[in-house]
Amino acid sequence: MTTNPKYIFVTGGVSSSLGKGIIAASLAKLLQSQGYRATIQKLDPYINIDPGTLNPYEHGECYVTDDGAETDLDLGHYERFLNVPTSQANNVTTGRIYQSVIDKERRGEFLGKTVQVIPHITDEIKRRIQILGNSGDYDIVITEIGGTVGDIESLPYIEAVRQLEWDLGEHNTCVIHLTLVPYLSAAGELKTKPTQHSVKTLMESGVQADILVCRTEHKLSDGLKTKLARFCNVKKEAVIESIDASTIYDVPNLMLEEGLDKVVLSQLKLKSSVPDLSRWNEFLKRHKNPKSEVTIGLIGKYVELQDSYKSILEAFIHAGAENEVKVNVEPIHSEYLSESNIEFKLGHLDGVLVAPGFGERGIEGKIDAVRFVREHNIPFLGICLGMQMAVIEYARNVLKLPKANSVEMDEQTPDPVINLMASQKGVVNKGGTMRLGTWDCQLDKESIAYNVYNSELITERHRHRFELNNDYKTKLEEAGMKATGFNPETGLVEIVEIPANDWFVGVQYHPEYKSTVKSPHPLFVAFVGAALKYNKKK
Ligand code: GLN
Repeated sequence: MTTNPKYIFVTGGVSSSLGKGIIAASLAKLLQSQGYRATIQKLDPYINIDPGTLNPYEHGECYVTDDGAETDLDLGHYERFLNVPTSQANNVTTGRIYQSVIDKERRGEFLGKTVQVIPHITDEIKRRIQILGNSGDYDIVITEIGGTVGDIESLPYIEAVRQLEWDLGEHNTCVIHLTLVPYLSAAGELKTKPTQHSVKTLMESGVQADILVCRTEHKLSDGLKTKLARFCNVKKEAVIESIDASTIYDVPNLMLEEGLDKVVLSQLKLKSSVPDLSRWNEFLKRHKNPKSEVTIGLIGKYVELQDSYKSILEAFIHAGAENEVKVNVEPIHSEYLSESNIEFKLGHLDGVLVAPGFGERGIEGKIDAVRFVREHNIPFLGICLGMQMAVIEYARNVLKLPKANSVEMDEQTPDPVINLMASQKGVVNKGGTMRLGTWDCQLDKESIAYNVYNSELITERHRHRFELNNDYKTKLEEAGMKATGFNPETGLVEIVEIPANDWFVGVQYHPEYKSTVKSPHPLFVAFVGAALKYNKKK
C-alpha cells in the first residue's frame, strides 16, 4: 500500500512495565484495520541471546514462534492482536547484536578496522530493524525498544533510532514515547514533571519524541495536555492519554478515541481512514457479556507471577468469549498440593490445566492433581510437562509402576515413561537447543483431538527435550490411555487421551501460543466447553 516501508519507534520513560507492548500492538491493530500491513518488533537491551534461558521470575513467559525462536512475551501480544505470525526477526537482543558483530570480526569482515559501538553495533541494530521492512511484506514496522530511556544499555538503540531518522528521511519515521503521569494523592494532582524529564533524557541522545502516550490512572485535562505539549515540544494532538483499562483488549478502542492512529499516519504522510474493528468489537462484546461462568484451576509452580503463563491466560480469555462464558482461572501452586489437601483445593473446580515447566520442583503435586481429576472425571488439559505428568500418573497408579518417572526428574528410574528425545542426546548447550517451533501432528480419527481440530494433520509449536517413551505406549494403551496424535516423521507421541473419561487430553505441544482474538485456539475452546458442561451437570 505504501511505496517504501515506514518505521515507528516506541520508547519508554519514567518507569518500566507501562505496557509498551500493548500500545504497540494496539496501534498496529488500528493500522491493520485501515488496510496497512503492519508488524511489530521488540528490541531487548539485555545480553542474553534470547529469553529461552531466562527463568520466568526474571522475564515472564518465554514465547515461541513458528520458526522456533524463543522470544519475549510481547510477541505473544503482537500475534494475539494482529493474527499474523511473528518470527526470529521480530525479537532481537543486545546479545544477538554483539554476537553477529563479533562473528563478523572473527571472519575478518571489518578489514582491520577498530570495531566500535558506533558505527558497528549501531549499524547492526539498524540492519536488524530494517530486515522486516526490506522483506516487502510490510508497509509499517513498529519497533518497540525494551527498557527505559536513560538506561546505559538502551543507549545504542536510541542512537540507532537517531541515525535512522536521518538515513530514512522526513515522514518515514515516527517516535512514540510512552511515559507515566503519576497522580499524587497528597497534592490531589497529576504530575507532568517525570514526563518532561524523560523527554529531555531522550533529547540528550538527539531524539525528539513526536508523540507522547501518557499512562495515567485519571483523565488528562485539556490544560494538562497543553502543558505537556508545550514543555515536551510536541503538537497538542500528539499528547495521547492512555488511561488504565479493565482489559488490554480495550486499548485499541481507547487509542482510536484519542486519535493515536491519526497523528501517527499524519506524521508519516499516510492516508487515514476509519478502522474496521467490527470483528474485534464482537469479540469484546462476548468477552464482556458472559452468559455463565466456570472455574478452572491452573496448576503450576510460578502461579504467583502474572506473566509466567501469559499465553495460557489469554487463550482462556479468547476461548471464554467464544463460549460466552467467564473463565475464572484459579492459580494453584503445585508445591503446596498433597493428597491431604487435594479435595479441598481441587474439588470445586470445573476443569484443571496442568502447566508446562522444567525441573523437579512441584512435580509430585502436579501428579497428585492429575490423579484427582482423572478419578473424578473433571475435564483435564495437560500442556507439555502437564501431559508428561499425566503419563507418569497413569503409569504409577493404573499400570502399577510406582517408580515410573521422567528421566528429567529421576535419571535412575526403573520405568522411564518419559525419556530424553534421541535428538537431544549429546546436546550440551542449553540455549536454543530444545525441540522448538512448528511440527506436524497426525491425529487419530477416533479422538477428542480430531473432533476439536476437524482435520487429520495439524501443526503446533513445541518447546521440550523429553517425550513419551514409545516402549510404554502399548502398555498404556491397553490400560486405557490412548496416544491420539503423533509426529509422522519421528513417531513421537504428541497427544494422549483417556477415552473412558469425558474430557482428558494431554498435549506435548503448546496450543496457547497460537490462540488469537480472531482465531481462539480450538483446544482451549473445547476445554472451556467441557468445563461448562461439567459445571452444568454438577
Ligand atoms: N521439561 C519438559 C521437557 O523438556 C517439559 C517442557 C515444557 O513444559 N515446555 O520435555
